[in-house]
Amino acid sequence: MEKICVAVRVRPPSCEKSEDELHWKVENNSVSLHDGVHNSPIPGMSFAFDHVFDKDINNATVYDLLVKNIIQAAAEGFDGAIVAYGQTGSGKTFTMKGIIPRAVEDLFHDIQQMNVMFEFQIRVCCMQIYNEHIIDLLAEDNNQNLETAYRFWRGPYVRGLKEEIVNNVNQVLGLFQKASGRSVDLAHTLFVMIIESNPKCTYSSSGSTSDAVGRLSVLNLVDLAGSKRTAETQAEEEGEHTDKSLMVLSDVINKLSEGGKQRVHIPYCDSKLTYILQHALGGNAKTSIICTIAPEKTHIEETKGTLQFASRAKNVTNCVKVNEASSEGKLLDEVFKKQEVQSPCS
Ligand code: ADP
Ligand code: MG
Repeated sequence: MEKICVAVRVRPPSCEKSEDELHWKVENNSVSLHDGVHNSPIPGMSFAFDHVFDKDINNATVYDLLVKNIIQAAAEGFDGAIVAYGQTGSGKTFTMKGIIPRAVEDLFHDIQQMNVMFEFQIRVCCMQIYNEHIIDLLAEDNNQNLETAYRFWRGPYVRGLKEEIVNNVNQVLGLFQKASGRSVDLAHTLFVMIIESNPKCTYSSSGSTSDAVGRLSVLNLVDLAGSKRTAETQAEEEGEHTDKSLMVLSDVINKLSEGGKQRVHIPYCDSKLTYILQHALGGNAKTSIICTIAPEKTHIEETKGTLQFASRAKNVTNCVKVNEASSEGKLLDEVFKKQEVQSPCS
């Protein structure tokens, strides 16, 4: 069992802030709302996390402390997820754009170290979820509305989503750039790397390779759509669309943080995002959630909402394990793929 790693990152202020007023103060790994006039913290407004990154912390440090070990684990067959959460303009995309190139570079470096023993295949896909519609950012025709499905080895996936086989860092970064150019801020963007490895030449005395165990890991790099604190009420008042995936994500995190998986039903199937990320949330993946906040006084309510979400996420535990399959298992997975088995939810 392993707790999800939760960090908060404070974006630099858009203009020089005054320390005389209410402001967020970072100390060690906590962030608290501070009354500058009386020079005192506001009671009940202090939050501690695995890491709190103040405004002058750069992407390289965030990557090293939060992501690097997940990339190494992904090369070894563990599912992984890095999720950026926070209100619009708080630094989610800035953070993911700083993380992804480093992740790709390290992944190829790590598998290079292992490729005497294993044969690797890496595939990349990229999608957006907007208003519960999945759009393929690597396909030319982005008018599709794709459905989710599940296979026991591959796990949750999107049927018909283009998966490109990639061989080097530049190829992946090219695809990421192409996808980024087409993504919109209002949607959730998922950049996914699928890492499959099979042992090379493990001839047994009988000369058979039939029980060679393969590994498959899925690495989800997620730039969520901007969160809203009072999503439901506010959106209703303003007559705007409430993002179902974000609401269900909150719900899933709440239920996981309260009861644990055994006792309550977790509504993964209620949104496309949570369905795809089910291994990352209370499943077998290694997960880091980066919650980005804006330091300005005008954003205090949103920031509180983000910190409350982050506090609940801290209580979620995953049961981390390598995703293996025997040759028989892999064959079965292929058969299921051909039969296009309906997911239990869609
Ligand atoms: P979001 O994706 O959450 O809507 P962005 O990542 O687009 O927000 O960030 C909003 C603006 O703030 C951008 O201009 C971005 O470059 C800047 N920014 C965000 N975080 C940082 C940071 N940690 N350091 C410097 N600039 C940042
Ligand atoms: Mg963004």
